[in-house]
This record gives sequence, structure tokens and C-alpha cells, in this order.
Amino acid sequence: MAAPTTKERSITLPAAMTVKDLGDALGISPIDVIKRLMTHGVMAALNQTIDFTTAAVIADEVGIEALEAETARPAVAALEHEIVDEAGDLKPRPPVVTILGHVDHGKTSLLDAIRQTKVAAGEAGGITQHIGAYQIERNGQPITFIDTPGHAAFTAMRARGAQVTDIAVLVVAADDGVMPQTQEAIGHALAAGVPLIVAINKIDLPGSNPDRVKQQLTEHNVIVEDFGGDVLAIPVSAIKREGLEELLDAIALVAEVAELKANPSRKADAVVVEAELDPARGPIATLLVKGGTLHQGDAVVAGEISGKVKAMFDDAGKRIKTAGPSTPVVVMGLESVPAAGERVLAVDDEKTARAVVDERKREREAAEQNRGRLALDTLFHEISAGNIKELVIVLKTDVRGSAEAIKGALEQLNSEEVKVKVIYTATGPVNDSDVMLAEAAGGIVLAFNTRVEPTARRQGENSGVEIRSYTIIYQLIDDVQRALRGLHDPVYKEVQDGHAEVRQVFKSSRVGQIAGSFVLDGTLRRNASVRVMRGGREIAKVRCDGLKRFKDDVREVQAGYECGITLAGFDDFEEGDILEFFHDEKQAQV
Ligand code: GDP
Repeated sequence: MAAPTTKERSITLPAAMTVKDLGDALGISPIDVIKRLMTHGVMAALNQTIDFTTAAVIADEVGIEALEAETARPAVAALEHEIVDEAGDLKPRPPVVTILGHVDHGKTSLLDAIRQTKVAAGEAGGITQHIGAYQIERNGQPITFIDTPGHAAFTAMRARGAQVTDIAVLVVAADDGVMPQTQEAIGHALAAGVPLIVAINKIDLPGSNPDRVKQQLTEHNVIVEDFGGDVLAIPVSAIKREGLEELLDAIALVAEVAELKANPSRKADAVVVEAELDPARGPIATLLVKGGTLHQGDAVVAGEISGKVKAMFDDAGKRIKTAGPSTPVVVMGLESVPAAGERVLAVDDEKTARAVVDERKREREAAEQNRGRLALDTLFHEISAGNIKELVIVLKTDVRGSAEAIKGALEQLNSEEVKVKVIYTATGPVNDSDVMLAEAAGGIVLAFNTRVEPTARRQGENSGVEIRSYTIIYQLIDDVQRALRGLHDPVYKEVQDGHAEVRQVFKSSRVGQIAGSFVLDGTLRRNASVRVMRGGREIAKVRCDGLKRFKDDVREVQAGYECGITLAGFDDFEEGDILEFFHDEKQAQV
């Protein structure tokens, strides 16, 4: 169903194609395509892939309307189509719990202690393996725990679009209280919209002070029940195995309220919890099934990796044939090792799996060609194109006071077109987990009076998350405001370097005209821009490509000296011309 068009001709193009194919389709030379792409800032070689949107722009330039082929990615489209569940098919499923908290507050000990309760009950029947997640049973109800504690893994998964956690247990040591990573964990859980349960750990220690912890949490907007809030806080001792039953009860309660459901009777979709290459068995991945049921023998795709489930094992190393929602399972049979957080889908057969993988690879290659990163500079274009309605900000500051001031000021910038949403603020340097959080939320990181850790900077570069540093609040606010208004194109200001007067014109067979000049003021530099003024009017604007003192080429000449000047492509000097030297300087906006 083609829309009415004023173009003479319309053609159908796939979602991704090579430069060469586009040239062929449009009936123009590939060189022409490459040149046209360059004018749009896209550098693509003959056999590189570009996406449909880019191709359509080029087509439009040559008077051809491009229509996107509906069958461009049939396999991927079919896959996405399949995953819609009817409400009637949804059945209750176990909660998936992640343990967060400051280092040394006892996350690992708590995970071990909870696991032990199961072993002690004699259910596991032997060695329990660490596969990245495990499941226990509590009053006949299973609960799944992600076995990698801490918010780094939690947010890394979210950054890949995989939210597996239903409930976050925040471990706070009763003798140590709320610490920086406790704050981070709170921020990450809140940003993910995951309900929190607080486990106040190490209550066996003499210095423990659970009430102080509760009080401190209040300052971070986590209000526990004793203080009139709705967050459950359970005193525990991972070492002494105290309070574990109460903690599990709390988890069961929060899970019940959340009414977690999934459709077990369809093809599975799962998330990679961890994966490695086993020298004997090949790629091994621990998956957490989100919906559907995974069967031995299923063909699967994990991002750009296809495979077939050759064998499956549960967290006790026991072979199993099926795995339903919220079940952690070790899978053998993937072609290579997928990344943690990657989504895994069961498909009809291996042929479909390969088709999906092929289409995804092509699509990614095309997207890489013109990846639109979320930078402040491009924000306005994205806003006007309707691509962004919300500017999500992760804010790191030196002290809490400034965080609050900045957050308040930023949120006042909200307009009808865009909302500024500060999803997380904390004190201290910008670290990897801040960048991941921004990536997960599709936002940017602003650092105020605080440094950016080198690994975080690298991570920002790799993931395309912009990190900006400021030392003055109003500049930060101004920058964001300007970005929101689309005023953020870099501003260049002309800076004058000096003036020279042409006293005598020489001819050189090699370099053309040389203006024998006297420097009136400032400093003239080779390669500067030059405005040739005659009778008060500008007659040319060119680049200085030669400065000579006597016979020597020099880099610069000061006021009060004579010199020989040549200008690139200008051979029309007259005595009395004034040469104005200047350069463009990008205005500091930060
Ligand atoms: P993580 O870094 O949060 O995973 O913390 P760990 O589980 O590694 O525990 C850090 C330290 O605290 C270890 O030395 C544990 O033995 C100790 N620890 C953990 N839980 C308790 C507890 O309930 N009581 C006491 N006294 N020590 C604990």
C-alpha cells in the first residue's frame, strides 16, 4: 500500500543493503552513492551495509521514492510476533531474586546460607554447583536466586534489555550501615522499578545497630515498616543462619503481592545469566527461563548465535528434559558463547534459527554504519524527529547538597516536548556501573565536580553513552537547556590574530604572487585564515600557505616585522591591501 508520491518512480528496498546494491537499485554508480553518503556524514565503502533509512535519503536525492520491503526480515519479524501471551494462558511463576549491597556486607554469605537451607533439608541430594543461579523450595513454593551478587551484574543485564529480577534483597551490615554501594544499589533497584526487601545482616556482632540502619535508609527514600513505610526489613545473620526463614517469608510475601505470572505452554524465551567455553563440552550457558518451557532438542537463538539444546542440567547438575518459567538451567549446544544478559528464544527448527541470526547480523552491520548516539549535540534532532521524549540523566556529584540542587534545577527544565528525568544521583566519581545504568535507561551521565574513572570513560565510549563533566552548576543546567532547545550546535567564534599591509608584490614562478608585507599588529601564523581587504571591503577569504622572513620559511611573524606572504589560490595582491589573519575557535560550552 504505497502512499501517494510526487516522485517519478518508487522502488522497494530491503532493511539493509550494501552500497553497491543501492547503486544498482537506483541506477547510479556506487561512487556516486559513496559521495552522497559522505555529504551526510556517513563513511561507507562499496561492500559495506547501510540501513533502509539512509538508503531512502539517497534515493530521495535522485528523485526516487524508496519503500521498505515488508519481507526484509521475515524470520526476525515472525519471532517477535510469536511472543505475545494471552492473559488466560498465564500461570503463577516463582520469583527471581537478586542480592544487592555494599562489599563485605555479606551478600555471598547470605546466598550461601540460603542455598544451604535447601541442602540441609536433603532436597538437592548431593553437590550443589555454582551455575549463576539456583532455586530453592520454601513451603513447596520455589524461589530462584541469581547467584552473582551486586548491582554490576544486575545492571549489566538490564543494559542489555534483560530484566530478570523480580525482587531485590538489599543487604546492609548492621555494624557498618548504609555505605556508598548500598546507595548505588538502592538507586539501581529503584531505576529498575524492582521491589526491595532489606536484610540487615551481621546482627550477631556486638556493634550491630539495626535501628541506625533503618534510620539511614530513610534518608535514602527507603522507608521500612517500623518507620511507617512499606519496605520489609529483616534482621539476619548469614553466619549464624538466623532470620533466614523470616527473609524467605518476606520474599514469598512480596512475590505474592507482585502476582508474578508467565505462560509455560509456548516456546521458551530465556536470558543468559552466565556463559563460558568448556574445553570438553563446548559453549555452556546458564539460562533463566522467563516464559514458555525450554525442551531438550529445541532450536534456539541467542542474539547472533544459533544452537540446539543438546542437553540441559539443573542447578544440582542433574540432567533435565524441560525447564519452565523462572527456572535456571545449564544448556549445552550453542554455537558459541553468548554474553550475559542476552535474550534466548526457542524457534521452530535450526533452519529458522540460522535465518534469524543471518538477518540480525545484517541489520547490526547496517546499524553500525550510522549509529545514532545519544549526545547532547544531537539531542534536538532526535527530539524534533520524535525519537526522544525523555532525557534520562544519571548524575554524579561531589557532595549530596549539589546533587539535590542540580536535580531540582534540571527537573524544572521539563517542557511539553521533553521531560528531563534524573533517575539516579550519588556522590563520588563516575564509575562503570553509572555508565551501565545510563545505557540501560538510554540516558547520559553528568559529572559535577567529580572525576570520571578511566574504565567508565572507556565503557562510555564503547557503549555510546555520553559522559559530561562540569564544575559550574549553571553551565551544566545551561548546557542541558540548550540541548533541549536544540541550540547545541557547536558555536565557533572568530579570533583575530593580526593585520599586515601589502607594501610590494613579487612574482615567483614556483609559488605565484608573494605579498611583501609589514605586520601592523598581532602575530601572523602560517595556515591561519586570511581576509584580503581592499578599500575597506573584503575581496577574498583564503588560507595562508606560506610565510617567509627573507629567504626562510617561518611559522609566525610578529608585529613590526616585514615578511613575504603567499595565500592558497590567491594571486591578485595590490599594494595597500590589508591582510587580516584570524582563526576559528570552538566556544567552550562546558
Ligand atoms: P559480600 O562482599 O557482600 O559478598 O560479603 P561476604 O559474604 O563475602 O562477607 C564479607 C565478610 O563478612 C566475610 O568475612 C563474612 O564471613 C562476614 N559475614 C558475612 N555475614 C556475616 C554475619 O552474619 N555475621 C558476621 N559476624 N559476619 C558475617
